[in-house]
Amino acid sequence: ASEILRLENLEVHFPIQGGMLDHLLGRPSGAVRAVDGLDLTIQRGEIVAVVGESGSGKTTVGRAIAKLVQPTGGTLRFEGRDMTSVSGGATLSSYRRCVQMIFQDAYQALNPRHTVFDIVAEPLRSLRLVRTSDELDTRVSQALTAAGLSPPDEFAARFPHELSGGQRQRVVIAGALAVKPGLIVADEPVSMLDVSIRAQILQVLMELREQRNMALIFITHDLPVAWLIADRIAVMYLGRLVEIGTADEITFNPQHPYTIALRDATPKIGVTGQRGELSSLQGEVPSAARLPKGCRFHPRCPLAFDRCRQEEPPAAQVGRQHTVVCWLASEANSAAAGLT
Ligand code: SF4
Repeated sequence: ASEILRLENLEVHFPIQGGMLDHLLGRPSGAVRAVDGLDLTIQRGEIVAVVGESGSGKTTVGRAIAKLVQPTGGTLRFEGRDMTSVSGGATLSSYRRCVQMIFQDAYQALNPRHTVFDIVAEPLRSLRLVRTSDELDTRVSQALTAAGLSPPDEFAARFPHELSGGQRQRVVIAGALAVKPGLIVADEPVSMLDVSIRAQILQVLMELREQRNMALIFITHDLPVAWLIADRIAVMYLGRLVEIGTADEITFNPQHPYTIALRDATPKIGVTGQRGELSSLQGEVPSAARLPKGCRFHPRCPLAFDRCRQEEPPAAQVGRQHTVVCWLASEANSAAAGLT
């Protein structure tokens, strides 16, 4: 495998304008640290799920990778090239050929006045990837077939309102695929679909990886879905990656108290179809504008101790491909090495 994407200490901070009233009411000013120092490397053909509650920063990471928001710090490298500050021009266009994003709400993403053909053809036209109409027909047809919309000619003539929810999500996937990207960022692509359709869409994405060696970043709040589709799972909390490992390690041997809480809040492994599995975690996610001191999970962590409230924990390696950002893991490693 070779590396396709590398994020180093990536930051996306959104400034907040704090007025006098905010000041008097004790509201935060400064910045919302949506993504706050994230390191992540993705290999070609790899599927990595980014898991967390709303407010974890997972969607902002996806949008930063797709260049829909600009990082405020750190670096983003794609195929070895530093793309961090690219924000327009030919370099951005060529990046868009390589990195596509799929959103949660397929109905919103599709123009109701356009046929499926025009929707899938749009990125090919706007990025000038085809020269003749025959070439355009072929590319659209291939993309529809790859996304499981067959026979393609029949679907190409339809409008979004003539399709089921699952078919609409397949059209969105076909639109992303048409440009033959090396990486797709999918933000909760199945969370609005019926349980029976979810597995089919996941299957399409997994087959695409097999056929095209395409890498996929799959953003979800749903740990069982992440386990089904991903090679590795990265767990985010308040803008930081708190645990990363193989899908099996994270699901069946989680080490971070937050991941353990996510796992325990999920009734069973499978395509659950349930919403809000994470809500049984105690307390609310604190604001990313007012991060707790020390470990940012400590106000909700049942295992927090004094050090957690004072110092941010470092990353600790607990397995070959398994890293945890927690003082318990780090102190256990130090003890095992005879350092304490
Ligand atoms: Fe809990 Fe402390 Fe580990 Fe943070 S560092 S997750 S507060 S035990």
